[in-house]
Amino acid sequence: MNAKDLCPEELEQFVVSFGEKPYRASQIAKWIYRDNAISFAQMTNLSKEFRSSLDKNLLLNSTMSVAEEKISRDGTIKFLFELFDGKRIESVLIPDKTRMTLCISTQVGCAIGCTFCLTGRIGKIRNLRASEILDQYLMVNKRDTRRITNLVFMGMGEPLDNFDNTLRALKTFTNKDYIGLSPKKITVSTSGLIPRIRELGNQISINLSISLNAPDDELRNELMPINRRYPLKDLIEVSRNFPVPKRKSLTFEYVLIKGVNDSSDDARTLGKLLRGIRCKVNLIPFNEANPLPYHTPDTEQVANFQRILISYGINARIRKNRGRDIMGACGQLAANYPTSEVMKGRKKIRDHELRQS
Ligand code: SAH
Ligand code: SF4
Repeated sequence: MNAKDLCPEELEQFVVSFGEKPYRASQIAKWIYRDNAISFAQMTNLSKEFRSSLDKNLLLNSTMSVAEEKISRDGTIKFLFELFDGKRIESVLIPDKTRMTLCISTQVGCAIGCTFCLTGRIGKIRNLRASEILDQYLMVNKRDTRRITNLVFMGMGEPLDNFDNTLRALKTFTNKDYIGLSPKKITVSTSGLIPRIRELGNQISINLSISLNAPDDELRNELMPINRRYPLKDLIEVSRNFPVPKRKSLTFEYVLIKGVNDSSDDARTLGKLLRGIRCKVNLIPFNEANPLPYHTPDTEQVANFQRILISYGINARIRKNRGRDIMGACGQLAANYPTSEVMKGRKKIRDHELRQS
């Protein structure tokens, strides 16, 4: 097992099981996450004996290597990582005027099968381990001298369908003795696994983004099969109660697809659905990708949709599309997996597909 697979509490339990004091866990964490230690022998503030037991029981290596790095005209960088078993994932670094946002993956592929998303076309290949979620950040951090300021769980996969490892990684990212990123700078995006949203809220306070993408159940059932299990009304109710950090609000994402969910009527229905909820809405013009059967709406249609939401008192913004030319924008991440297979009929999400693996 890799040391990075253990979240702070687990690492503490681990060191205690060797008869050591709990604070030794933070010392080890500093070596790993701050000093990029590659061996336990370097950890000179620990006894020699303890170092050699650690060495026998835990790995410290990086879980991935960079297979490819593509730079977009707009400065966005897409990393293709190869994992220990040859599986591949992608992470995207998005520099902005004031921010450096890293978008990370939680699974190889995705089981949810939204009709507008390339990752969904791959199907779920496997969950990432906590160490593999963390290593995307650590690898990019090492390769790029600019400091990563924001972290979004919006890459490949559904974070809450890999709940345990996502939570472990979140605890390591936010713990001050470990990576120590502010929870205010971290956003988890989900297609809406209601029980897991509740569970996440009981465990941690970070920003939550819900991918809505349709204003009513009929259309959402069509675009996001997960809606047949967890319908809109319940999803919005559970999201409202999520403990986002102080002075932050819930985000809803809405991919605008030409002629599918971008009409004035759709905007009004969405306006009514969200009226009175303290939230932001990010409108994402659909990113085209072969073989997805949809198109990007015209700029005017996007602006019209935004205007209508604003008239309902909703804070609606249009998300800039970064990294489209390198297939690094939302919904375009496929890590060179085949995506051309036509999905057979409507995909049903079965319980066993959503269980931890
Ligand atoms: N599985 C999670 C996180 C990854 S997807 C989720 O669905 O929320 C991240 C975001 O990309 C989601 O809001 C999703 O709706 C959006 N997205 C997927 N395909 C897209 C596409 N082709 N164009 C624009 N946005 C897309
Ligand atoms: Fe999975 Fe999110 Fe893509 Fe849907 S949008 S298929 S949940 S990655």
